Amino acid sequence: MNRRIFLTALALTPLYAKDFSKNTKDVYLSYREYQTLKSLNIRLVRLRKFVGFANFNLISYKEAIHYGRNYSRIGSFTNIELSLIEKLFFESTEQYGFFGSQTCFNIENKISTKEVVKISGTGHYLFKGKAEEDYKKLKKDVGNTLVLTSGVRNVMKQLNLYCNKLYRNGGNITKASLDIAPPAYSYHTISDFDVGRRGWGYKNFTADFASTFEFEKMKKLDYISMRYNKSNNDGVRFEPWHVEII
Ligand SMILES: [Zn+2]
Repeated sequence: MNRRIFLTALALTPLYAKDFSKNTKDVYLSYREYQTLKSLNIRLVRLRKFVGFANFNLISYKEAIHYGRNYSRIGSFTNIELSLIEKLFFESTEQYGFFGSQTCFNIENKISTKEVVKISGTGHYLFKGKAEEDYKKLKKDVGNTLVLTSGVRNVMKQLNLYCNKLYRNGGNITKASLDIAPPAYSYHTISDFDVGRRGWGYKNFTADFASTFEFEKMKKLDYISMRYNKSNNDGVRFEPWHVEII
């Protein structure tokens, strides 16, 4: 590449970040880390069963360690599991092709039950204030077939979702972070939520959601936005179900 083209490419990198990443090699966990990922995922499932599905959305890193240490049904997080969690939380994500903003800077981030409201029948929480108000308005404007499919997620919940994706992608971090934000980069930790059509199950988390009547109605509303549209520069797939709080 000659110098002029190189400098142009450099200047354009933020705009074309997603395409640029396609030219880079996918980043994988090491074999050892992948083995650790398996034991970590099993422990996270035990923790989720112990604290309950809804509470697991809010649980902090410190609480997770506390429960592991004190309840044999979960078992203590090993040092290599903790190291993997820290790597996934702190490591720079550009190398994976993820260019979103960091939303959480403290691995021990706490979310108090006073800051959130539980949405009955969903197993999920919303932040009080704008998120809660927007959801109520959405139900009114779109109709009762619209449901909350994921709300507030603290670090451990985001980590759990991310690790599941990593496992399913054979430890390919680049691919996993295309589908879900790394643990320190989720807007679910500070504001946003996901919605779906009642009874649609996993299809609510596919591009098919964009063909629903519910989505058509949502597009016309001016008090919410779509965080990950088709042309987003974060390196995230199209997520019509993810509501951006504005
Ligand atoms: Zn989302």
